[in-house]
Amino acid sequence: MTASPATNRDAAPILPGAMLGVLGSGQLGKMFAMAAARLGYRVHVYAPEHDAPAADVAYRQTIGSFDDEAAVAEFARSVDVVTLEFENISAAATEAAARFAPVRPGGRVLHTTQQRLREKGFLKAAGIPCTPFAEATTKEQLAAALAELGTPAVLKTAAWGYDGKGQSIVRSVAEAEAAHAALGGAPAILEGWVDFECEVSMLAARNVQGEEAFFGPIANDHAHHILDVSVYPRPEVAKLFDDAREIARAVVRELDVVGLLCVEFFLTRDGKLLVNEIAPRPHNSGHLTIDACACSQFEQQVRAVCGLPLGSFETLVPAAAMANLLGDVWQGGEPRWTRVLADPRLRLHLYGKAEARPGRKMGHLTALAGTAEEAATLVRAARESLIVR
Ligand code: AMP
Repeated sequence: MTASPATNRDAAPILPGAMLGVLGSGQLGKMFAMAAARLGYRVHVYAPEHDAPAADVAYRQTIGSFDDEAAVAEFARSVDVVTLEFENISAAATEAAARFAPVRPGGRVLHTTQQRLREKGFLKAAGIPCTPFAEATTKEQLAAALAELGTPAVLKTAAWGYDGKGQSIVRSVAEAEAAHAALGGAPAILEGWVDFECEVSMLAARNVQGEEAFFGPIANDHAHHILDVSVYPRPEVAKLFDDAREIARAVVRELDVVGLLCVEFFLTRDGKLLVNEIAPRPHNSGHLTIDACACSQFEQQVRAVCGLPLGSFETLVPAAAMANLLGDVWQGGEPRWTRVLADPRLRLHLYGKAEARPGRKMGHLTALAGTAEEAATLVRAARESLIVR
């Protein structure tokens, strides 16, 4: 391994009392700010939204556009380190910030992971197993990609995609051409269809001094392309720890990440792990670490970007499961909170968002139990019991 410019074995830590800057002010920023505050840091969040979850707990909030380089630079001037909870931030903005404070993870990490073609190109070049893919921006590229990968396949916009947005499953050449026309010439990627057993994720942290910590693999069930329930440790998935850790280690080292990231995988029916995506920040599937582990993914992000010793991801309970609470849970009126609050095996997390729209992530529930199966059953039943019918 060559010397890594983002890490320095002798770097001095940024100690409690310092001001930590966060780009983005959603629920990930809120949970980061809570972990930082517990360790005696103050947090300054920067994002375009008014009425943002992180603003409830941050010491300071600046409302501004991620394209406003001068405002981002001014924000960076007020903090000791900049981290993020949202990866679609331009290289120009991260460069502007980096003139005044270290940005962790750095601009190159964001540049690579915010665009699917660059992300998959990086994985391929690093020899990391990933979903088969080819560029499909032009009609000619699409035809070549279809010839190479066949159908069914998944056509995705290369940028700004998440939770299944900007992607279509194409079952024939005609369907692919129609979906392609709808993209209107935007950079696109065609991915071979992966007939997976399940989806799993692995958290990886790397601090300023180069120390690393890993957690997972977490088993993830989706509904309508949005994460629904995460479970740890599901036995048939948890046994893949060594393989998943080696891949996650290669990702953090090759990308030269300081911070916390999540590697999302497909587990194929023949037992192989293929990387689907990299999120260079805490991830929804890692929320169960708050209640189940000695150190949560958010505290780990604080420790990593401040150059503190990393915490332990050791679990304090045999098993945990997390269920997202989307706005749909509010469909019949205010959910019956007292039902879950009365059960000591459950932990309720609400993000404080004012408007409960269908599909919007409003909070999550974590269940702690003796086995992964019990935790998953409990968390689903508890969520169901919240809904007023
Ligand atoms: P993504 O936005 O890439 O995470 O995709 C959202 C979801 O669509 C994934 O979590 C999978 O459930 C499904 N999906 C995406 N790409 C593929 C693929 N190449 N093969 C099979 N399923 C996929």
